[in-house]
Amino acid sequence: MSQGTERQFAVADCIDMALAARRQGATVLAGGTWVMRDPLRGQGLPASVVVLSAIPAMTEIAIEADRITIGVSATHAMLADALRNLAGLEGLVAAAEGAANPAIRRVATVGGNLCTVDFPAADLVPAFLAYGAMVELATPEGTLLLKMPEFLKERRDLLGKALLTRLHLRRDVVASAHARLPLRKAGDYPAAIVSIAVDREGAIRVAVGAVETQARRWTSLEAALMGEPEALGLPDHAADLAREHKEFTGRDGVEAEGWYRCQVLPALVHRATAALPRLETRA
Ligand SMILES: Cc1cc2nc3c(=O)[nH]c(=O)nc-3n(C[C@H](O)[C@H](O)[C@H](O)COP(=O)(O)OP(=O)(O)OC[C@H]3O[C@@H](n4cnc5c(N)ncnc54)[C@H](O)[C@@H]3O)c2cc1C
Repeated sequence: MSQGTERQFAVADCIDMALAARRQGATVLAGGTWVMRDPLRGQGLPASVVVLSAIPAMTEIAIEADRITIGVSATHAMLADALRNLAGLEGLVAAAEGAANPAIRRVATVGGNLCTVDFPAADLVPAFLAYGAMVELATPEGTLLLKMPEFLKERRDLLGKALLTRLHLRRDVVASAHARLPLRKAGDYPAAIVSIAVDREGAIRVAVGAVETQARRWTSLEAALMGEPEALGLPDHAADLAREHKEFTGRDGVEAEGWYRCQVLPALVHRATAALPRLETRA
């Protein structure tokens, strides 16, 4: 931080206090692994920050028989530890424990990952999209519950005044997987990500991250896989379906060109379906 600049640091002990700080222009500081690198991106550090992790519910991960609630101040490491060995949650665990490196995973939060609007390669975003998570926001007008796609569409505007507080998962997913292609020259950020989840009704959701500026569902592949669900147990065939159902326009970046991000998607579909727990072996 530059000398002579007065910066304000507030630790909120309740949501109202955090919202009041936001209204006065404070930026949410979670793990800081993105915010503190703002100067590397040519942006100044925020003059005023508010920390949410002292609000008890924000770090809680509550696991019940039919649902899971995740406070957004939980770190990647906390998330992976809490969900490990739970049927259906394999993709989220792989996303949380495959991102970055151990030191970053110990401080980087779920909220920071979902609220970094200009970061297309966030691992948890496609994983929560595929899972079918709902997000909870605290806004000056009250609590708002949104499906992930709506949140992603609106998040730049919403986060101007709202706070992300919790994620809600129904425990209806029976198998999930997360496959990513990290590149050394991208600082190990993934160049492309494929997350897949299958629910107990047989619905199949596939989400792609890092390829376009925002993660989204691969709806044509989802429809193809629903038509041929046996492909989930045949990774070569699933990859062929991925080749037949191209629908992404890759973004060019210093770490990878757009065509390459699209080119690797069938291989990631192969890896994700191969990693998917076999349906008949699940309890
Ligand atoms: C070396 C390195 C490697 C990385 N590798 C990966 C990787 O492989 N995969 C990956 O996904 N990411 C990676 N990251 C990127 C990134 O740091 C993470 O995405 C991280 O999850 C951000 O979380 P944080 O808690 O540190 O967020 P912060 O930096 O504290 O905040 C990030 C943004 O979210 C906002 N915010 C945070 N919480 C809330 C909230 N509750 N409500 C509203 N706004 C909020 C902040 O105001 C800020 O704008 C890496 C970072 C580093 C430094």
